[in-house]
Amino acid sequence: LKKFEELPISQYTLTGLKEAGFTEMTDIQQSSIMKALQGRDILGCAKTGSGKTLAFLIPALECLYRERWDRDDGVGVLIISPIRELAIQIFDVLCTIGKHHSFSAGLIIGGKDFEDEQKRIVTMNILVATPGRLLQHIEQTPAFDCSNVKCLVIDEVDRCLDMGFRKSLEHIVDALGSDRQNLLFSATVDDNVKKLASTTLQDPLYVNVTAEEDYVTPKTITQRYVVCELGQKLELLFSFLKSHLRA
Ligand code: ADP
Ligand code: MG
Repeated sequence: LKKFEELPISQYTLTGLKEAGFTEMTDIQQSSIMKALQGRDILGCAKTGSGKTLAFLIPALECLYRERWDRDDGVGVLIISPIRELAIQIFDVLCTIGKHHSFSAGLIIGGKDFEDEQKRIVTMNILVATPGRLLQHIEQTPAFDCSNVKCLVIDEVDRCLDMGFRKSLEHIVDALGSDRQNLLFSATVDDNVKKLASTTLQDPLYVNVTAEEDYVTPKTITQRYVVCELGQKLELLFSFLKSHLRA
C-alpha cells in the first residue's frame, strides 16, 4: 500500500488528509499504519522528518472512530510528547487531519491556568500532553479519569528518556487501563528505549525504516588507503596532508 486512500480508514480522516495535501505515504507510514490499524502495538523507529506524526495520528483517530467514541466518553487517546513545541505541532496536525471527526481535543502542556485546565481536561477525548503536566492532572485533578484510554502514543521516546521522564512515563502508564493499544515512536532505539518498550508494549511489532545508508559513508565519497610500516605512519600522513593542501 502506497497511498492513504488505499487504507481501510474512515472518510473523515481521508478527507482531512486530502485537504491537507497528503496523498502518498512515507516509508514509516507504509510500514506501520496498516499494522497499527490491525490493532498491533508498535515500536516505530525512523529519523526526524520521516513522517512519524501521521504514522500515529491516523491509527489513533481510527481507534476512537471504530470504538464509536462519543464526546461524553472522556479521554480515549493520549499522545505524549517530551517538548511543548513538539506537542503543539502534533496538535496542529491533529486538528488539520481530524477536523471532520467530532472528537474534542486538548493541549496539556503547562503555561496556562491549571484550575481552568482542570475544568476543560475532563471534556476532552484526545489529549496531546507533556509528561510533567499530564502527571500533575493525574495526581491533582480528581475528576480526570484516564483509566479508559484506548490508545496511548509516546512520541520521541528517546528524548523523553534523555530528559529524565522515565519515572513520569511509568506513573502515567500505571494510571491507564490495560485494554489499550500502544504506539511508541523514536528517532533512535537504544537499550533504554527497548526497556521502556518492553514494559509498555504488548507483543509489539518493531518497525525500523532507518536505511543503512544513513549510517555508512555516502556513496559519492571514494575511499582509498595506503599500507605502510607502523613507524612510517605519522610521516606518511603528514606528507599526504602537505601534498593535498587546499586553500
Ligand atoms: P517526524 O516526526 O518523523 O520528524 P513529521 O511527522 O514531523 O516527521 O513530518 C515531517 C514533515 O513531512 C512534515 O512537514 C509533514 O507535513 C511532512 N509529511 C509527513 N508525511 C507526509 C506525506 N505522507 N506526504 C507528504 N508530506 C508528509
Ligand atoms: Mg516527530
